[in-house]
Amino acid sequence: MRVLLLNPPGRHTYIRDYFCSKTTKSNYLFHPIDLVMLSGRVAAEHEVEVLDCIAEELDVATAEWRIDAFAPDAIVSLVGSVSWPEDRAFLAAQAARGRRIIALGDVLHEKADERLAEEPWLEAALGDFVSSDVLAILARDPASVRGSTVRHADGRVETVGTPGRLRGEYDLPRPRHELFAQRGYRFSFAREERFATILTDWGCPYPCTFCVMSTLGHASRPVPSVLEEIDALRARGIRELFVMDQTFGVNRRRGLELCAELERRGDLSWTTYVRPDGSDDELLAAMRRAGCHTVMMGVESASPAVLASYEKRYALDDVREGFARARRHGLRTVGTFIIGLPEETEESLRASLDLALELELDFMSLNMAVPRFGTPFRRRAVELGLVDERDLVMDQGGADAKLPTHALDRATMLALKRRMIRRFYLRPAYLWRRARTVGSPGELLRQAREGLALLVRNAGTRRAP
Ligand code: SF4
Repeated sequence: MRVLLLNPPGRHTYIRDYFCSKTTKSNYLFHPIDLVMLSGRVAAEHEVEVLDCIAEELDVATAEWRIDAFAPDAIVSLVGSVSWPEDRAFLAAQAARGRRIIALGDVLHEKADERLAEEPWLEAALGDFVSSDVLAILARDPASVRGSTVRHADGRVETVGTPGRLRGEYDLPRPRHELFAQRGYRFSFAREERFATILTDWGCPYPCTFCVMSTLGHASRPVPSVLEEIDALRARGIRELFVMDQTFGVNRRRGLELCAELERRGDLSWTTYVRPDGSDDELLAAMRRAGCHTVMMGVESASPAVLASYEKRYALDDVREGFARARRHGLRTVGTFIIGLPEETEESLRASLDLALELELDFMSLNMAVPRFGTPFRRRAVELGLVDERDLVMDQGGADAKLPTHALDRATMLALKRRMIRRFYLRPAYLWRRARTVGSPGELLRQAREGLALLVRNAGTRRAP
């Protein structure tokens, strides 16, 4: 069969991946990890092309022309709540041309059976992108599906297993990075322009109630399988990696083993996520020796009550120690915050900014709270009447505030978020530190581009009170 792996066109720079979707927060656009991971498995049995209309900046007409040129029998497509009306229209038109449509994304992560019932063009919703479900669905073999929602030949819709939730170990054929566009991807923290996005595990074992990763279970790939992928990238001259694992080293023995192998290769440079309380000196030192230069860690909030009620399972002192430890090992730090939870006030935002300054972050990433599909937080937001369950469209990138808080309306919340960004990034001492620590003129240019895009998006269109 000819199978197209598709990131559909869109009016904005959408990031649809890993059961999240958003417009880019600045200018970054990394490889859609779902399609990367599917590429090896599907290519093992079918003729495959990848079309990332966002990276290639294709409009609808050009995307249709490119798809017609390949004439796929089936399309495996990303969809996102951020672009759901556009995605539905585009994919329904492809189905009308006789193509089978299998999709995955946040908007299908919850109640996929209802979505299939509403959308006759949609044959199946993949529950994950690492298992062999995609092949079973392409083969019209529903008996072999383990965790997806399918439409049977008689029209009946069935959800099989628990879509998305994996445990233990999984393996897959080497992801085919070479099928992806060679230009158009940007990553804020990459030291080199050419980079690859990889995933060595699945989901996250922690229960943070606002985070979709907590709904996926946790599984990991065998280290030799990961190394085969990395060595294939090295053979193509790619040394810079975005390791998308959400809690690198959570399986400590495996994390150390992978680091030892990367250190032995000695030519890699990479960024990943760790927990502030899950990365001790031994792990951070091993990561640094293996070429890691930047770690992203959750701070989330300066309020101990918020950390406790959303089940972060760490205290502020763990956060302080984690960031100090990473700095001691020479790692750049990115602190991620969730803002706009129902408890948020102007004072709590000020406290979060003070904490970001105290932690001496290299980068601060603010994520506006959104009721992500499948999360306990979404259920609570529906119960509180903060969100309409039937409203499937939302942007998780913070361009808009989806929810009011108990104390702040959406416009005020957005204005305060923009002010936080400006106050953090427009400090002369900070800008001087950034300029001094870049590794090359190319990196300086990329960071300047990212910074400018971030500031333009957070320019003060409405004065914060
Ligand atoms: S916020 Fe981080 S630690 Fe918590 S569930 Fe999500 S990925 Fe895991």
